[in-house]
Amino acid sequence: MLRGPVLRRRRLRYSLGDWPIGLEQPFELLVLNPTTVRPQLPLDVSVESRSPELAVSLDPVPKVAPEPGQFVRIRFRAVARAEARGSEIVVRVAHGDRQWIRTLRLDASFDLGTIQVASAGVSRWMHGCSSSFAWRGDHDLYDPSTFQSEFGLRVALGLARRFCVPTTVMLSSRLSLEQADHAEFCRRFGWDRRSAEIPGFIRFLRDEVDTANEQDFPVSSDRPVAAEIGNHMHLHYGTHAAADPGNGWKSHARAGAGTYPWMSRSPASSFEEQRDNMLACAASIRNHVGIETSCFAIPSDFYDADTSRAAEAAGIDVGIDTDSTKFERQFVFPAEHHPEGCARFVELTRMSPRDPVNAPQVAVLKYWVGFARRKRRALVYLAHHHLLMYQGNSCLALTAELLRHVVADSEGDVHVATVTSLGRYWRDVLSERTRCLAVSCGGRVVTASNCGDRNLCGIPVEVEFSGGRRMMRIVDVPAGAEVDVLSQARGPEAGQL
Ligand SMILES: [Zn+2]
Repeated sequence: MLRGPVLRRRRLRYSLGDWPIGLEQPFELLVLNPTTVRPQLPLDVSVESRSPELAVSLDPVPKVAPEPGQFVRIRFRAVARAEARGSEIVVRVAHGDRQWIRTLRLDASFDLGTIQVASAGVSRWMHGCSSSFAWRGDHDLYDPSTFQSEFGLRVALGLARRFCVPTTVMLSSRLSLEQADHAEFCRRFGWDRRSAEIPGFIRFLRDEVDTANEQDFPVSSDRPVAAEIGNHMHLHYGTHAAADPGNGWKSHARAGAGTYPWMSRSPASSFEEQRDNMLACAASIRNHVGIETSCFAIPSDFYDADTSRAAEAAGIDVGIDTDSTKFERQFVFPAEHHPEGCARFVELTRMSPRDPVNAPQVAVLKYWVGFARRKRRALVYLAHHHLLMYQGNSCLALTAELLRHVVADSEGDVHVATVTSLGRYWRDVLSERTRCLAVSCGGRVVTASNCGDRNLCGIPVEVEFSGGRRMMRIVDVPAGAEVDVLSQARGPEAGQL
């Protein structure tokens, strides 16, 4: 896949729009091997300009194709040297008989001295993608027989690793990390769910999983697997895992069914109970795994009018399923938003079907991937990591097919990241209410400034010039910094804002 300032990605031809002379634009070619096959033939990459006015310089290219689960990154830069129309660059990657060829077309190059900037702004996802995608799964309790275990996560996260895609594990802590609670629960119901393995499971999460909250495609880490760990409440409402001494061992208990030691007061409002349940989960994960959770998914589709506000009050940045109905997840696909009563909390939408087990279900999910591209949405895909193996391997195989579709069939137009990474990007860059990135323009100058405390990377600034010419420029804007987007194109006086 190709990363770079592309305005429109068709099947074989990418549109670069119109560039000012002298502006050097960086591109990145990512070649991934998500198969289990070790390559035997050399990798053959060429990037050539068909027009003398458009110069290309290619960094050294590795001759060896990536091993399974690995990728290579090949950088090149392009710059318009003189006025021209219809210049083209041909990018070709070959491995044996397999060829990937794309033509990048620059409609026109022009002297910035003769033209004014009409408008500039950001409306796309990282690296200029039309849409974004996150794979989320839930881990409700430690239970090796349903693969909610180190073994199960190794298989599921291993699949994500093969595709270098980030994923988010929503972890309910009470029966996943608290060994004494787990043992008491098992004794009560007569199940042997191997409570003694919990310390080993915690060691696995601490030592072998890269648990960074913000991860973006392509994931590369020194650890064997990678997954953001999200908050899925301490007590998992709505399934048998909800049974607890505090609610008289009531299976499928929901909010309001009991009094628990982690509650700040009792009786508590629904808002207080949910907030305290999330805080207890955050504390347990902090205590055992040593990390802070920043995203949340509600257990068992239980939510009420207080859920989103409770998550924000618990310090969570991004939520899933905190205010959307089943009908909306089936048919509507609500856009990213700040739920009612929340100041900065971001809700992303998880669309149905979840945990696909047959081809029509994956076809519907592929439809939603296309819908997200057309509407510039973030799509959250729910496949419980343990269900990939439970009751057959169809969900594992179909998840692999969906990941392949997102990464390979979407022309690099879908940005894959963890839930937190996508939610914070929307909050800081795209949300009209909370964004800290400001783009301004005047004359021949476009400025991007970041008044927030996070570095913003891969920000696609779209610029329209007088006369209708358009281009994209991808910039990094460090926290508190201001970036001159077109500096190189204005020549010697560049930099004087
Ligand atoms: Zn759950």
